[in-house]
Amino acid sequence: MGNILVICEHENNELKTSALSAITFAREAAGHHGGQVSLLLMGDGAQGASAHAAKFGNKVLVCEDAGLKNYLAETYAPVIANAAQAESATVVCSTATAIGKDVMPRVTALLDAGMASDIATCESKDTFKRAVSAGNAISTVQVTSPTICITIRQSNFAPAAESGSAGEVASMEAGQLNAMGAEFVKLESSKGGDRPDLNDADVVVSGGRGMGNGDNFAVLGKLADSLGAAMGASRAATDAGFVPADWQVGQTGKIVAPKLYFAVAISGAIQHLAGMKNSKTIVAINKDPDAPIFQVADYGLVAKWEDTVEELAGAIASAKA
Ligand code: FAD
Repeated sequence: MGNILVICEHENNELKTSALSAITFAREAAGHHGGQVSLLLMGDGAQGASAHAAKFGNKVLVCEDAGLKNYLAETYAPVIANAAQAESATVVCSTATAIGKDVMPRVTALLDAGMASDIATCESKDTFKRAVSAGNAISTVQVTSPTICITIRQSNFAPAAESGSAGEVASMEAGQLNAMGAEFVKLESSKGGDRPDLNDADVVVSGGRGMGNGDNFAVLGKLADSLGAAMGASRAATDAGFVPADWQVGQTGKIVAPKLYFAVAISGAIQHLAGMKNSKTIVAINKDPDAPIFQVADYGLVAKWEDTVEELAGAIASAKA
């Protein structure tokens, strides 16, 4: 029997949606390992998020320490590894967010564990499936080490529902922290104003190279704001410097699966589709009727963005008003 430890990212006193997906995986894994699900909260505001977290796990471990205020893989990984040992965890997991992807290999090394990354399904105690080759093939991975570290692909696991009974909340000491020469300098958030995080948003509005330049994304911003959406982009748009690199959706960017995804002036290259094709409803606006994006779109508009997006944003804003 072994327990499952989930590294939970949080914001504004709540777990992020990305953490809820990891909890869904953890509950499946707990079924195979026969243990319970423990959630680890670290960093600024960890205590504040504990009440929300307790609704989802059997146990919540809170580690608040001045040295953990800002995320650094060097300081977080040993605390996670200590928590895993204290909880007798046979599986340590997180969502494959920027932080999850960064910290989990270090945790794996510290625990002398095996790792499967970006997994899409939990087949058994030690076997998982993950998409490879931009989603064109599925690989089956078996991890035979006693402790298994996992990152999950958020779009493959629905956010967990509350468990119905409140879990126990316990504090944990961070111990001696050593950043090993690394230093937190500053966080530059590029999500823009009050827009939701790309990983967590129910609606995403993405633009491609066909937007022409960065200034033109302001028009997409109006559409996003009329829908309370996050903004994304194709790699061609981020590579061209139209918008920040962390807006990139796709194989080498963020994998999203919102309820509604707008692809505006995006051709629909396979590498872009790899990051958004699990969206519940896809809307494409493209002037080329043969653009591949229309093959995955639920609704398609063959038109120039210049003639449609602003009008659409205005109509949505008026309908809401
Ligand atoms: P384009 O292919 O240039 O398409 C622009 C589209 O805009 C066209 O369909 C055009 O008809 C339309 N358009 C032009 N003007 C207008 C207008 N006025 N109104 C309406 N429509 C208009 N790409 C990603 O997105 N994400 C990734 O993570 C990613 N990873 C990659 C990894 C690898 C290893 C490789 C090799 C490539 C990767 N790519 C990725 C790049 C990918 O192959 C494409 O080059 C990229 O997605 C194209 O972006 P785009 O659709 O914006 O540009």
